[in-house]
Parts: sequence; C-alpha cells; structure tokens
Amino acid sequence: DKPTVCITGASSGLGLNAAKSLASSGNWHVVMACRDFAKAEREARKIGIPKGSYTVMHLDLAALDSVRIFADMYKASGQRLDCLVCNAAVYLPTAKEPVYTADGFELSMGTNHLGHFLLVNLLLDKLKEAPNKDPRCIIVGSITGNTNTLAGNVPPKANLGDLSGLENMQPMADGGEFDGPKAYKDAKVCNMLTMCQLHKRLHESTGITFASLYPGCIASSGLFRNHVPLFRYLFPRFQKNITKGYVSEEEAGRRLMQVVASPDLKKSGVYWSFSNTSGSFENQLSEEASDDAKGSRLWDVSMKLVGLA
Ligand code: NDP
Repeated sequence: DKPTVCITGASSGLGLNAAKSLASSGNWHVVMACRDFAKAEREARKIGIPKGSYTVMHLDLAALDSVRIFADMYKASGQRLDCLVCNAAVYLPTAKEPVYTADGFELSMGTNHLGHFLLVNLLLDKLKEAPNKDPRCIIVGSITGNTNTLAGNVPPKANLGDLSGLENMQPMADGGEFDGPKAYKDAKVCNMLTMCQLHKRLHESTGITFASLYPGCIASSGLFRNHVPLFRYLFPRFQKNITKGYVSEEEAGRRLMQVVASPDLKKSGVYWSFSNTSGSFENQLSEEASDDAKGSRLWDVSMKLVGLA
C-alpha cells in the first residue's frame, strides 16, 4: 500500500488541489479529512481525483469531540499515516460578533489552531510509525500572521499579547475587543509557533519533520467566501496586477505537495515560502512567530484548553 497523507480541509482550495496533485502522482493515497463529506466527495470527483486514490473521512475541527473521534477512527481503520497536513481554516473578515466552537472557543482560533493542536498530538504516535520512514507534519501558515512582511503589517496586526485572553477563553488571545481579521491572523501565528515548538520538543526523539509554509496569495480560494462581494472581485485582480503575489489554486496545491513529498524539503523546523521564479526557499518567521517563550506558553495553554494537561 502507498504512503498516505491526511489533509484537513481537503474539500476546497489549497487542500483540494494538493490532494489532487498528490493522488494523481500515483505515489500517494490521500485521506480527505473534511467537515462536509458530501462536499468533499463531490469536489474530489469534480476536480478529477482518481477513484481509489482517496478516502473521505469526517472531521470537524470546531468540535474537540469530533477531533478525538476522528483520531480514534483513523487508528482503528488500520490505515497508514506518513504525512499529516493541517490545512483547514476559517476566516471571518466581516463578523461583528464572535462565533464559537462547540467547546466555546472563538471560531477562528478554535478551528485553525486548537482543533489542529489536538489532532497533531493525538496522531503523533501513529505518525512516528510511518512506514515510509519519512514522517512529516505540516501546518499551513500565512504571511498575514507575519509582521515582518508588508502584508503582515496591514492592520489589524497579529498580536497574541500575554495569551491571557486565550487562556481564559475570551474571544481574542490578547484579551482585547473581538476583531475577525485579527483573530485569523492570531490563529496563524499560533500555527507557526506550534510548528516551532513541535520541532523543538519532538523532532529529534520522533524523527518527524515538522514544517510550515506560506503557499502564496490564493486570492480566488474559498477562504474569502465570507468577504463582501466587491472585495472578492477586486482582491484577485489586485494581487495579480499590483502585488504580483497571486498564485492559482493549482500552483498552491503543487507547492504544498512539494512540502509533503519532495526529498529536498525534508528539513524540520522550516517555514517554506516560494518565489515565482526560483521555487522554494527557507523563509524567516516574524519576531512573534519565532518567540520561544511565547511558543512555550502557547503550548502549555493549548494543552490545558484541549484537555491534554
Ligand atoms: P478554503 O476556504 O478554500 O479552504 C478551507 C478548508 O477548510 C475548506 O475545506 C473548509 O471546509 C475547511 N474547514 C473550515 N472549517 C472547518 C472545520 N471546522 N473542520 C474541518 N474543516 C474545516 O481556503 P484556502 O484553501 O485558501 O486555505 C487553506 C489554508 O491556506 C488555510 O490554512 C489558510 O490559512 C492558508 N492560506 C491561504 C491563503 C490564501 O490566500 N487563500 C494565503 C495563505 C495561507 P468546507 O469546504 O466545508 O468549507
């Protein structure tokens, strides 16, 4: 049987396109871990993922029970796990009020960070036993959570503060007023901090490669589905013509596939980025996203919130 990659949120955008690239290569079986399995199956057929090269499984990251059930089901299924990709995300740019997960966390932080944090921890043992002897765990990051970049400096900027808001289950990690775009960016910083902590704590003892990536600006993906129509019309055009940061969903999928499968991208603890002309390169994380003390505190707080400590 083939090496198996499990991709969360594989029913749309980056995850769907990476699933297609990996499955079509003939070298990978893909588990599409999705909250809407009817949609996942429909999209897999529509985009032409070869039958038999994928399995759809139910996972709703906005409910920790669903994450626990998923991890149990995965293990019980006897399927192998060679790579886990934490890709799913929600972005609520126009929300005026916070929305919450089943466990009472603000939805972007709960889904994008805490759901994945629990998932990774529950599947670590399985991943350690990867039959291909090249286990990888990839957490999709973003430039928007990186305040050392131009895009990361568009207000509101990510800032986790002292994490007391997260610890006390307030809508914002820093304890401030709810702000949808900031909540997304904060969660992305948590994704990158988590990758760094996983690398530091577990890479040597487990042999797992932990990495993050910025796939480019996939301005046409479903991520912006909750934005106002004018934004959805202008944003791809702006990214294509002005910033030149635009990347198609297909190309972004191929980039993620490289981080999953390429022998050249096996290094752990790296935040990969891509140049349109020269391909992948190791990028710098922002000060906050590479702050070890903050990462350590985030680890402890997250362990408590997901019930592992
Ligand atoms: P999409 O909105 O197209 O895809 C997001 C996926 O996440 C969908 O499959 C969605 O499911 C799934 N999802 C949302 N909530 C849950 C949940 N509770 N449980 C399980 N799955 C869920 O966005 P993208 O493909 O653009 O984003 C993918 C990743 O790329 C994200 O991590 C994002 O932060 C990152 N990224 C995106 C950029 C961009 O420009 N678009 C730039 C940089 C990073 P459903 O299909 O059911 O809605």
